[in-house]
Amino acid sequence: MTQLHAVQRLFLERKAKSTRPYLARGAGIDRCQACQLSKAYCQCHIRQSLNSDVAFLLIMHDAEVLKPSNSGRLIADMIPDTHAYIWNRTEPNEEMLALLENEAYQPFLIFPHDYAVDGQARVSSVTLESGKKPLFVMLDGTWREAKKMYRKSPYLQQMPMLSFQLDGPITRYTLREGVRDFQVATAEIASLAIDAAGEPQNAKALQTWFEIYCEASFSAATKPTKSYRLPLEQLQQEFLTQIKN
Ligand SMILES: [Zn+2]
Repeated sequence: MTQLHAVQRLFLERKAKSTRPYLARGAGIDRCQACQLSKAYCQCHIRQSLNSDVAFLLIMHDAEVLKPSNSGRLIADMIPDTHAYIWNRTEPNEEMLALLENEAYQPFLIFPHDYAVDGQARVSSVTLESGKKPLFVMLDGTWREAKKMYRKSPYLQQMPMLSFQLDGPITRYTLREGVRDFQVATAEIASLAIDAAGEPQNAKALQTWFEIYCEASFSAATKPTKSYRLPLEQLQQEFLTQIKN
């Protein structure tokens, strides 16, 4: 058994605390605990973490952690230095706050500039102080939850806010019908940040990993869909080439 990453650990902790079974859409599917896909479509055999000089801090809304469609997990699959904590309005996690203060990292909050509070720096590229590693902070939840998390957390208002101008869909999947769960997915935005940090190949690998996850989810769904599909094998081949370089 390989070591669990931050999001997998958080999932198990959260599940242990849960008094009721998770009853959202797809609750009846027999899932692989590691990738949350139906066991018949488990993609763990091709999962491989990347060599990367970026770090992520996922601050997850409590309701997000148990959702099989959560795409923050895909970031932790690929980027070894990924941290994940459940957001708490009144008692922010001490370890999380210490990470934000850690001199080895340079934090950026990935969030739309329109929401920045007065005085918060707004940047659209990643410029690093010498010797520092970028720490991309992402708020993982619905859009409504993310806005609340930002508003109610003063520590998120003290770091530069990094935004990306989106001219169109990021991946081939964003505009497909029936993919509302995945629209503006956390993993897609993360791939833009990785690209901005000078790791375009890693950015592509995370995008493809996300697409594999989407495709495998759709394939596992009982209803056949008429919309455009990319063969899972083709995506897997692309991914294996991308992680080799
Ligand atoms: Zn799996």
